Amino acid sequence: MLRPLPTIVHLDADAFFVSCELALRPDLRGTKCAVGGRERGIISSASYEARACGVYTPMPSQRALQVCPDLVLLPHTAGLYGRVSGRMFDLCETLTPLVQRNSIDEGYLDLGPGGLATDAELTARVRGLQARIWDELQVPVSFGLATNKLVAQIASKLRKPRGFVVVPPGTEAAFLAPLAVGKLPGIGAKTEAALAGAHGIRLVRDLLARTESELEVIFGRGWREIRAMARGEDERPVETGDDDAKSYSQQETFGRDLGEFAEIERVVKGMIDELLPKIRADRKRVRTMTLKVRYPDFSQETHGRSLAAATDLETAFYPLVEPLLRAAWKQRRPLRLVSVRFSTVEESAGQLEMFAESDEKRRRLAGVIDRLNQTGRNLAVRHGHQLAKPREDP
Ligand SMILES: [Mg+2]
Repeated sequence: MLRPLPTIVHLDADAFFVSCELALRPDLRGTKCAVGGRERGIISSASYEARACGVYTPMPSQRALQVCPDLVLLPHTAGLYGRVSGRMFDLCETLTPLVQRNSIDEGYLDLGPGGLATDAELTARVRGLQARIWDELQVPVSFGLATNKLVAQIASKLRKPRGFVVVPPGTEAAFLAPLAVGKLPGIGAKTEAALAGAHGIRLVRDLLARTESELEVIFGRGWREIRAMARGEDERPVETGDDDAKSYSQQETFGRDLGEFAEIERVVKGMIDELLPKIRADRKRVRTMTLKVRYPDFSQETHGRSLAAATDLETAFYPLVEPLLRAAWKQRRPLRLVSVRFSTVEESAGQLEMFAESDEKRRRLAGVIDRLNQTGRNLAVRHGHQLAKPREDP
């Protein structure tokens, strides 16, 4: 049998926003500094020196200045983090075409297709990437190498900053056993405290010491997944995203927090209007719409619904907006951000006959609107709800 190789890499930039700023302001290196809008009043990234002083994210900037009075507060630089992130992932793609960008500063690589023969060769190539990102961008990044995504991700976060942890094939379970259960993805601080308090489970090995029926009592139906995770088992492939798009999404951070239902409903419909033309242009249809709302303290809620059949028409999704917003926006506190995602993507071609004539008419109209919007931005055709008008809060 072929011995597996640790070809899966997780990378996670260290204090990313702050690191991007420090690349421009090297004089601040080694100081307590943080990126945080004074205006928004929330810390979004803190240097390790500031963290040692008690600053964390998300924390109100005013509170951060109280616990760390000599904190240097840096404003967000528009566009900077996206540019640095893009270059960082471009450098990753010089190593392998299989790059999954998970967020602005985290992702997975699969070095499998490179045809490498030894662990040492793999390690050298990833070390080279870490050095190159630093040389070119002055951004420190931590890496984990393992045989799967789960273990690589846990490994990358273990020795930050500038971490580099390799988990040799066959040692996944032994690697996880002495770690706190809270290191497992999905086990948050509350669950961790409950597991310790009610069941005496603190480390991954405590969890694995339990019998199957005990695990079932503790975790319910998901116990097998939890046990597989604790053993370091994970089959998920690295997904590059440029095979067929798996979802279409858009988000909007508000300049001021929004608290009025009708206003938010209008924003969401505007996002539908932005996304569906892209879906039509890609000759795709989508079935599921997911709405996410985020509060100023970064807590968030999500709700999704699926149509009976996939479609590429805005009008099919408008009726979902109100019920989705009601379901997702439970706390009714003002919102900082809303995002819309369309998933369950299907090919559009060859399915026309499945749709009724009225849908065909609407689709033709939608196509006309798309073309008009392309030709003249200023004369853009608007759907009724795009014209701001006072409405009762339903
Ligand atoms: Mg990071």
